[in-house]
Amino acid sequence: MSNQVFGNDWVERFKDRASVTIAAGITCAFLGDERNLREYLVADELVKALRNEGHIVHFLLFDDDMDPLNYRQLRVAVNKDQSIIDQFEPFCGKPISDIRSPFDDKLTWAKHFENQFLNRLSSLDCHPTLIRTSSLYSRGMYTPYVREVLLNKDTIIKYLEDTFAGYHPEKLYWPVCPTCGYIDCTHVASANETEVHIECERCGKASWIGYDELRGKLNWKFDCAARWSMFNIDVEPFTKSYLEPKSGSFVVAQGICKTFFGGGKVEPLHFGTVSMPKELGCRILPSLPASTLRNMFVKNYKADLDINEERIVVEASRAEVLPEYNFLSVIKQLLPAWLLDSTELTPVQRELLSKGMRFSKEFLHSEVRPVLPNGEKLESTPIDVLRAMHSLLQRIIVLRESFPNNYEAFIAPTKATIDKLGEQRKPVITHLRRLVGQEQGLPNSRFLFLLPISYLENLESMVSLYLAAKGRKETFAVIDPSALEVPFSLVNTERIAMDY
Ligand SMILES: [Zn+2]
Repeated sequence: MSNQVFGNDWVERFKDRASVTIAAGITCAFLGDERNLREYLVADELVKALRNEGHIVHFLLFDDDMDPLNYRQLRVAVNKDQSIIDQFEPFCGKPISDIRSPFDDKLTWAKHFENQFLNRLSSLDCHPTLIRTSSLYSRGMYTPYVREVLLNKDTIIKYLEDTFAGYHPEKLYWPVCPTCGYIDCTHVASANETEVHIECERCGKASWIGYDELRGKLNWKFDCAARWSMFNIDVEPFTKSYLEPKSGSFVVAQGICKTFFGGGKVEPLHFGTVSMPKELGCRILPSLPASTLRNMFVKNYKADLDINEERIVVEASRAEVLPEYNFLSVIKQLLPAWLLDSTELTPVQRELLSKGMRFSKEFLHSEVRPVLPNGEKLESTPIDVLRAMHSLLQRIIVLRESFPNNYEAFIAPTKATIDKLGEQRKPVITHLRRLVGQEQGLPNSRFLFLLPISYLENLESMVSLYLAAKGRKETFAVIDPSALEVPFSLVNTERIAMDY
């Protein structure tokens, strides 16, 4: 199989199927940190693997936006801003689809955080189709399931007690009170073929309401079972705690789905839990390239993942983000030159630049600084070596301009140019690498290809000026090499970081 993450069994399972539907669920009450990403990235990896095998794959993300907002979610959502907490605390207990966003009057609470979450997933190349359960309820898609549950309550409870020892659901359905709009303190007192009798402990009102006007949500396991049946779901990711074989959430939902909702078999995609110290929260996403972060969550997806600072640095040192470069070597060897001029950088290189600067600060505890070849470094380079370096730079600039995006075409003439230096090859290359802060061993043609052309041009004119000054110095004996330190125009690095 082409995908290295999933074994053959996943491909075998669906080999006779034209289309496969993979689902995942979320409650978009707040954005949160990176911990919950694994579920969606593992599901997406399976989506990609099956698409790669030629299947049509639907990837559905259900937002349980009929869930009531609770106080803990409110605090996290507004970043503990006490004035917003005071303003929105009275709404706790209402469905998040019925509360306006604290940050945008035109959006509901749920839509605001859905947008943020989908943007986050999209930045990680994960693009599910979002389905709001509130829309499914309001369009009547759940009505047959709600009727089935409310009219056969006793049979269902008996089935659950007989089949899943120890499982006694508190409620099968949570109605929204038609008087006060809260969902957290309501219950169905009774139901008949046409109406449902609702009681609300918040406002103390009781009301009879028809199925068409009824608003509310099924108990989560029933809700899950209903949408599996509604959308013919084949796969959904779950952690171990949901997969306990006797009365875990998955097996209960599967039993309800098959027995009462006419649904089929769903394959649980088991993924390991993620643990991470709180202080790492929201520092990983802006610091790691999307491919590196994805890889960390997705590879060995069955094993539990313990994320800490050391782990992040190890991931950065392993992940190849450019040919022959891992992320750490990009940060140490390329960023100092890229910082001087980012105008020529490709979108991939710009992502590496902004993430690399943040990574260096967060996890290496140092700022990336541009490397300027200065007068002092030039002073310690023998004149004949500088002269040979100068002609090499002139030639490399011509080659770079001739093959702007074609490394393969650039290699051969570059190697030939370097070889022509003969005995001076070694000292020229050594001093050049020292000048640009690239002393570690990457192939010469590779680093000469990755340095911005403007950087090479500036370096060339600097060496040229120095050689001219040196010539005059031999005559007049007064020149200050430090005067040569500023021909570079530094770009605003804050600005680059903000672009991402
Ligand atoms: Zn009420």
